[in-house]
Amino acid sequence: MALINCPECSKEVSDKAEVCPNCGFGVARYIVRQNKIEKIQEETEIEAYLYVKQKKKEEKEAAERKKREEENRKNSIYNEAVNKYTSASSLNVEKAEELFSTISGWKDSDTYLKQCNDRIGELRQQEKIQEKKRKRNLKIGIIFSLFLFIIVMIPVSINSYKSYQEKQRVIQARKEFISSIQGEYVYIREILGDAYPRKLKVSGENVTIGNTPGTIQEILGDTFYVEWTYIGGSTKKEKFKRIKAGEGYNLIHSDSFLEEDEEYIKQ
Ligand SMILES: [Zn+2]
Repeated sequence: MALINCPECSKEVSDKAEVCPNCGFGVARYIVRQNKIEKIQEETEIEAYLYVKQKKKEEKEAAERKKREEENRKNSIYNEAVNKYTSASSLNVEKAEELFSTISGWKDSDTYLKQCNDRIGELRQQEKIQEKKRKRNLKIGIIFSLFLFIIVMIPVSINSYKSYQEKQRVIQARKEFISSIQGEYVYIREILGDAYPRKLKVSGENVTIGNTPGTIQEILGDTFYVEWTYIGGSTKKEKFKRIKAGEGYNLIHSDSFLEEDEEYIKQ
């Protein structure tokens, strides 16, 4: 049993008393309510304590996570910077210098930073030399190609000029041949593929060779030998007589005449 001061009249009263003997205040109800209040306060304090503890833990974890993320970020920049630094390009080392300066103080970034300038200088020197070599090789390549081109093209040009001249000569000879034998019988020593003389009559663009009619183009083709013989005379019989006598031709021998020609001449 303990004595408390009555909250109503302030006189001492037992905490086991139902009511205050002095003023009739409900001590027992008061004590029960006070106990409840204390309990609630106690629970609230515990909750508050746990809440704060949890918050602190979360804050600590968040800070650690942030620290790890920052470390990862710096490490990834550091690794990229080291890669660029060790490459053989001055531009890459310039980039590495930039990267190292953003993580100054991290690992040995500052040592690298100090060395970047020297390395950029060395690499630029090497790159200048390489560029000179590349330009020189390019020049040599171009000169060599031109030289080869000239060596190859000179004979090709000469040959094509020769074949052009030959073609012009054949075209001219053919024109002369066609115009000079209009309406006449002629023997041509050889049309490509023919081994013996053939009798040919030309009339305008039409040609009869043996018994085969056709155009000049069809019969003679694009090229033919122009060693032909003009046989003069006004009638066919006369012409063949003159051939037989060896007149008017210099390439056809009477021995080579076809049987039908011999028959024709006899008529
Ligand atoms: Zn009282």
